Amino acid sequence: MNYPEHVLLGIVFGAAFALLIGADPFLFASIVFVAAFSALVPDIDHDSSKIRGYADLGVPICAFLFSYSASCNGVACGVENWHPILVSTLAITGLYMIVMTYMKPRHRGITHTLLLAAGYGIAIWFFSNPNLGIAALLGYVSHLVADRQIKLL
Ligand SMILES: [Zn+2]
Repeated sequence: MNYPEHVLLGIVFGAAFALLIGADPFLFASIVFVAAFSALVPDIDHDSSKIRGYADLGVPICAFLFSYSASCNGVACGVENWHPILVSTLAITGLYMIVMTYMKPRHRGITHTLLLAAGYGIAIWFFSNPNLGIAALLGYVSHLVADRQIKLL
């Protein structure tokens, strides 16, 4: 399955979850964005995948959204809490760069397992909030479903 189908399925999974919890428009958009992005994440192990092309831009943006939503509920709060938001954004982006430079796994290996899907969801939950963690998990799992690569390890 190609990236547009993965994004579409991630949007469907994210929108269904956002409707289920009655999310406000900002949270709805955040959940759908995180789920759509997360639906591309498993193919990060493929050098010519779309996600690799977008990752250098997408990872810092997502890291910022996660960091912001973990610290703030409104717009003005971001000015007061810029330091922890910046540190968290840089930490997530730096971790991504280290992993992709030194520890890139083989294609459809560990990245296409429920174990990594759970780890990814928990990491997003930890760095942001439960709703975005669940959105990330659902988006990631939608990719595994679409690829028919549902294995535990
Ligand atoms: Zn895949």
